[in-house]
Amino acid sequence: SAEAVPQAPEDPLFGLMAAYRADTFDKKVDLGIGAYRDNNAKPWVLPVVKKADAILRDDPTLNHEYLPITGLQPFTSAAAKLILGASSPALSEKRTCSIQTISGTGAVHLGALFIKKFYPGSPTVYFSNPTWANHNQIFSNVQIPISTYPYFSKETKGLDFAGMKKAIAEAPNHSVILLHACAHNPTGVDPTQAQWKQLAVLMKQKSHFPFFDCAYQGFASGDLAKDAWAVHYFVEQGFELCIAQSFAKNFGLYGERAGCFHFVTGPGSDSQETIRRIASQLAVLQRSEISNPPAYGARIASTVLNDESLFKEWEANLRTMSGRIIDMRKALRSKLEEMGTPGTWNHITDQIGMFSFTGLSEKQVLELREVAHVYMTKNGRISMAGLNTGNVDYFAKAVDKVVRE
Ligand code: PMP
Repeated sequence: SAEAVPQAPEDPLFGLMAAYRADTFDKKVDLGIGAYRDNNAKPWVLPVVKKADAILRDDPTLNHEYLPITGLQPFTSAAAKLILGASSPALSEKRTCSIQTISGTGAVHLGALFIKKFYPGSPTVYFSNPTWANHNQIFSNVQIPISTYPYFSKETKGLDFAGMKKAIAEAPNHSVILLHACAHNPTGVDPTQAQWKQLAVLMKQKSHFPFFDCAYQGFASGDLAKDAWAVHYFVEQGFELCIAQSFAKNFGLYGERAGCFHFVTGPGSDSQETIRRIASQLAVLQRSEISNPPAYGARIASTVLNDESLFKEWEANLRTMSGRIIDMRKALRSKLEEMGTPGTWNHITDQIGMFSFTGLSEKQVLELREVAHVYMTKNGRISMAGLNTGNVDYFAKAVDKVVRE
């Protein structure tokens, strides 16, 4: 009966946000939220998104009808081109299918459902340790066995590549390996291109299935192709793989839930036939989950992705966001080094994307909250977007203080 339902724990990140909002201290700093903030700590509507919005508002043919089950076609095909690269062999050989989802979360979920339904005995899904907390929940909810591979080295605050390779080599053949395409959340640590190549060799030997989660293309380095390099490489190597693609961060369309799930079959004479069957099954799953995806965010992204000059403007907007974050990394590192804060701080600028894994302990994190009104997750992750020219010195001084205690 309903009385037997236990209380669920609060989502830690959303609890942190509530605590921040309730804090009345004027210099409080929010480094929890995984959303871009401008230099005034305010959400930023991309200028190109404002333009696309104006174009849509002026379009008398638009209405509020349902999108097709698989979503807005000009959006999904542009999304595929974006992540795979326009000259991808997978696209020219027509062995991809793309289905619009409820942002990246919905794409991961659709992929999880698909694996559960069509891979008998369900392979284990391996995540990096640590990973985006929702990976665990999404795959657990569809009752797929989960495991982890080492990823972050506490000593170097970089990649534990040996540990990662060992776990991937020891996983049963045909396992699903979840990989962050770029700007790993929460660590900000990515494999180098040489390391990606080694991972591809290893995963080929093991017949593993790469499941790419791509939530930060263009947001990480400011260069769309560079941030998709690993995906391009794995596709070139002939892998059968899938990709969960989010447009939340790179378009600032968080609440509009624009995303896409792509499946790519390997090269071969029956690959087109296989992909047609996969597409048909994804549509069936989508129908029972959400019927059809939301229109507005997809229309905005589609307007930009399919127009050459708006696309260029979007790239400039991406460079504004990634550039500001890179500047904040530099400012934080140099301030800490200038003060002689104990420890090494090169990882702050070595890591990339929205987040940095500072290496601060849970005790230090809690003290920063109590004493300095700085809000960050207990694992020591900070959202670089929460820093700006007005608070980076304040934050660095607060870190210096807790590290010395
Ligand atoms: N994967 C990763 C690694 C992420 O960091 C995020 C965003 N926090 C997502 C997926 C999906 O986010 P959304 O559903 O908002 O697109």
